[in-house]
Amino acid sequence: MTTKPRSAQVIALPGLAPDRLPAEPAGPSEADEAAARESAERAQRRRVLWIRESKVIATSYAINGVCLALFALTGTVHWSAALLYAVPGWIVCAIACALISSGYSQRWSDPSMSAAQSIAGMVICGLGIAVFPVMTFLYVLILFTIFLSATYRMPRSQATLAWFIVSAVIGAATLTGSRSLQIPSHTAAEQFTAWACFTATLARCVLLSIINSGHNQLLRQRGEQMAATLAQIERLANYDELTGLLNRRSILRVLDEEIERAERDGTPLAVALLDIDHFKAVNDQHGHLTGDRTLQTFAEAVQTRQRATDRFGRHGGEEFLLILPDTDAAEAARALDRLRDGVSAADWASLAPGLSVSFSAGMAVHQAGESVEQLLSRADRGLYGAKDAGRNCHRAG
Ligand code: GH3
Ligand code: MG
Ligand code: MG
Repeated sequence: MTTKPRSAQVIALPGLAPDRLPAEPAGPSEADEAAARESAERAQRRRVLWIRESKVIATSYAINGVCLALFALTGTVHWSAALLYAVPGWIVCAIACALISSGYSQRWSDPSMSAAQSIAGMVICGLGIAVFPVMTFLYVLILFTIFLSATYRMPRSQATLAWFIVSAVIGAATLTGSRSLQIPSHTAAEQFTAWACFTATLARCVLLSIINSGHNQLLRQRGEQMAATLAQIERLANYDELTGLLNRRSILRVLDEEIERAERDGTPLAVALLDIDHFKAVNDQHGHLTGDRTLQTFAEAVQTRQRATDRFGRHGGEEFLLILPDTDAAEAARALDRLRDGVSAADWASLAPGLSVSFSAGMAVHQAGESVEQLLSRADRGLYGAKDAGRNCHRAG
């Protein structure tokens, strides 16, 4: 059988010759379109979530409005307190919903508008304290719930600022010397209504903490998914999927490092290109699947017999690169003989009856100042010689 010219295979080193990388495809690929679709769907899901949050805030305005209305019933405060509180709140929520669903809020740094709605809520409470001081305790309770929900998402600096503003508002109410922070409790109706306000506020605090712990759990899950995806990407980037060996890019990177080390320490470094003999015939006679299993078994057979310091990777197709640090030509030849015996002793018949596998190898010992390409080119010449010599042997290049 004639042996094909091989040097071009060896010299194309990914990562080391960026000018030879294939050009980017001209139009958007299917993957790009799928990613764009996924991103649009994610944005839509986020918008739905933010609108739901605005509706929860609107419900909160309604509950607080009912509390104020109950105090109007007991005669503690004027009816207008309930309307002047709830109506502006609902208007703010309606505007937020409109801006979120139209996508207009995407132009701002806070597209969920949660900060804007919190600030609006605080201003409404502040005005409520100024106009209806008798209800200060209720507005302060509401400020607590706004504060609790708003600061959850804020960076530390904004949360501190929010604390400062809320403290100033409450301080203005308490330090004026008025008795406005007192809870209205002159009559049984007032006492009951005050209790109802506390209960409603506490219920919302519990609800907020349940929602927040749900968010935290979701974040944790996303973090774990992200870590698993990154590990998978790293594995695919560095290892050959079929054999589990270092892929071409990784084994060449290792070779680069080993050459640097050998030159620094003045130690010998041998490399060997191993190529399975007549592998095309394995595919042709036994099928591609058996061909794949043959590659896996070959990788295992070499890996279990190589020395701990040797590095082994798939260089491409049915060709593998073995790096033997601190090894001269005679030691490398002995190592290759051992591997040849090991490979021939593997249980090939279990893959296909009558199957037997051998490999040819080209070996080269690194010379001072020699590049990766030059070294591999010599090993490739050795492999060429081994194939010419009848295969199932090794030659130095
Ligand atoms: P030689 O002894 O001269 O090396 O001959 P060969 O048949 O081994 O070499 P040739 O280059 O003619 O054929 C290599 C074959 O390896 C061709 C290709 O289809 C096959 N091959 C490359 N990668 C894979 C793979 O991942 N799985 C399988 N099943 N076959 C592969
Ligand atoms: Mg081959
Ligand atoms: Mg080959």
